[in-house]
Amino acid sequence: MYVVTGATGSLGRLAVEGLLANVPADRIAAVARDARKAADLAARGVEVRVADYDDPASLKGAFGAGDRVLFVSGSEPGRRVPQHRAVVDAAREAGVALLAYTSVLGGPAADFELAREHQITEQAILDSGVPYVFLRNGWYHEVYTGNLGQALEHGAVVSSTGEGRIASAARADYAAAAVAVLTGEGHENTAYELSGDVAWSFAEYAAELSRQTGREIVHSNVPAETYREILVGAGVPAPFADVLVDVDAAISRGLLATVTGDLSRLIGRPTTPIADAIAAALKS
Ligand code: NDP
Repeated sequence: MYVVTGATGSLGRLAVEGLLANVPADRIAAVARDARKAADLAARGVEVRVADYDDPASLKGAFGAGDRVLFVSGSEPGRRVPQHRAVVDAAREAGVALLAYTSVLGGPAADFELAREHQITEQAILDSGVPYVFLRNGWYHEVYTGNLGQALEHGAVVSSTGEGRIASAARADYAAAAVAVLTGEGHENTAYELSGDVAWSFAEYAAELSRQTGREIVHSNVPAETYREILVGAGVPAPFADVLVDVDAAISRGLLATVTGDLSRLIGRPTTPIADAIAAALKS
């Protein structure tokens, strides 16, 4: 079976759709913590397995011997080490054939806070002896284009990224790579550094926004502490604001600008340009 965890999330749903286009529905299982959210997939013939990363006992039913699993990292930074260890333990006990984990661009070299849990998870997977693929995903375009309201309202993209560049790609590109790895051959025990074909700066991003909207939108680069105050003032919880400021510092140091071509090679086409993601977001 082809198994996708986090199947009711944005990336997981795209991966299940990609699998449905390639293999029969009865060879696909969607792991969800809330079966109701996966009812549409069940109606299309996908097996739904209910499991919660927080509940190791529930994970026993998530995987079977020989499964090829896309393990989508959890969405609660700070809680992911025990959650992910529980998933890895369950995968090992079940005897899965492949565990493809959505890690972070750079892997062990990603020197910023949000990367730590991914690094610990990669090590847990290595220690487990389960055949693995590390899908070291760079940032999604949608992290930025999913939230254009502020930029359009204030005429500014605010960050503390400086001149830093970011090689983001569409979420759908990363999902397509995951599907390619799950359904393809010869990927065992490989780490892919997945990122967009083009690294852009926030000044370029603001310029593209200006071009597409016909309005003047600039990149407002602010010191880290000011950015943190702006985020907290906008209602972002302080601990998460710290994480976001740390990410911008990583971008300013070039840590998310790596272009390897792994992503376009896996999906057999160029990655989606940021301009396309902006256009899609402006239409929605
Ligand atoms: P989503 O938040 O849309 O999806 C996360 C998925 O994980 C959801 O299906 C969610 O279940 C599931 N999940 C979370 N906690 C648990 C749990 N305790 N037990 C079982 N399932 C759980 O994120 P995306 O799909 O956009 O991204 C996938 C992952 O990639 C994120 O979880 C995060 O680790 C990482 N990420 C990467 C980014 C990038 O730019 N590269 C940006 C943001 C996140 P449910 O549907 O029930 O909520």
